[in-house]
Amino acid sequence: MPVGTLASVKGVPQDILEELGVQILLGNTYHLYLRPGVEQVRKLGGLHRFMAWPRAILTDSGGFQVFSLTDLRKITEEGVTFRSHLDGSSHFFSPESATEAQIGLGADIIMAFDECTEYPADRERMRASMELTLRWAERSKKYFEDHKCDVPWTKKHVAPDASSGVHAKRADANEHDRGYAGEGARATQEPAELCSARQPRAAVSTSSEATQALFGIVQGGMDHQLRRESAERTIAIGFPGYAIGGLSVGEPRALTREIVESTLEHLPAEQPRYLMGVGTPEEIVEYATLGIDMMDCVLPTRAARHGLLFTSEGKISIKQARYAGDAAPLDPNCACRVCQRYSRAYLRHLYASNEVLAQVLNTVHNLSFYLDTMRAVRHSILLGKETGSSCVRSRPKP
Ligand SMILES: [Zn+2]
Repeated sequence: MPVGTLASVKGVPQDILEELGVQILLGNTYHLYLRPGVEQVRKLGGLHRFMAWPRAILTDSGGFQVFSLTDLRKITEEGVTFRSHLDGSSHFFSPESATEAQIGLGADIIMAFDECTEYPADRERMRASMELTLRWAERSKKYFEDHKCDVPWTKKHVAPDASSGVHAKRADANEHDRGYAGEGARATQEPAELCSARQPRAAVSTSSEATQALFGIVQGGMDHQLRRESAERTIAIGFPGYAIGGLSVGEPRALTREIVESTLEHLPAEQPRYLMGVGTPEEIVEYATLGIDMMDCVLPTRAARHGLLFTSEGKISIKQARYAGDAAPLDPNCACRVCQRYSRAYLRHLYASNEVLAQVLNTVHNLSFYLDTMRAVRHSILLGKETGSSCVRSRPKP
């Protein structure tokens, strides 16, 4: 999932994201809550309409961002009081208010409010933090169940057809509605959950409205036993998908992998398993091979803006003088619109001249490289299935 913090993948218009094959992107609740504000987005029909993005969106709970404001926040059982990084104003996030904000934004997948345990932390601290996250997960779910029909979009679905199985079908959506509704439920390949009849829509008596999917988050620090316990108790609360949180917080990469591997064992393979905040191209292949279904990271977009480009021949720092006369494409094995059209010399010139276009083109290529990497992973998984092998044994070439 490319990261579109403020309802924008920095520098890249939505039509190009579509062309690149982005199926889902991530928005940050903390940032959108501060600017332009949840109520503004809700009144405009939710994030999909606001940013003119018909495909799926996931929002985080705001927790991770709030916890990153180390000097600006105070945590209690009730929630977190924090100061805006923009103007210093005081705000409060709780499992209830963070869920309310995410319902108002209207992404397809939303996240339970959790505490991201800092690293390093001792076992007592890791346990206390995990227990708090579990209590907050229950409160997030309860608030979601009570308010899930307040989502701003109108996804009209007929009730699931008993003969055709799980997938709800959309009833008579016109072309415009089709553009902004229902894509997410399809993208996650999950049955659309339907609102109960307690809020019937007079116009379509046989229809209910699809709701968002609230995912739970497993914490437990760097302790295998706590991770297992967190997974089991989060599953007991019950969510349509599970995230592994609290990693990529400064621990060594080998430890990240160890924790991912041991946590995955305890999460149901038939539900989406989402590893938050990773990684390099090599890492995302590695985690997907272990069984991770979803990942998000600012790396491809942020690195691009700093002139760091991922290619099939390794990393390139386009600012280097050695590329000033290089007429070759950035990556000869990349089919993206940047590599098809421009030379390394031109990209280097744009970057050195601080042209806005440098950020745009660099980001388009890096996203293309990441998406190609994941396409290769999916291809390998399909090939593995066709040949009867039970897992992906060979690492696909990015
Ligand atoms: Zn390219």
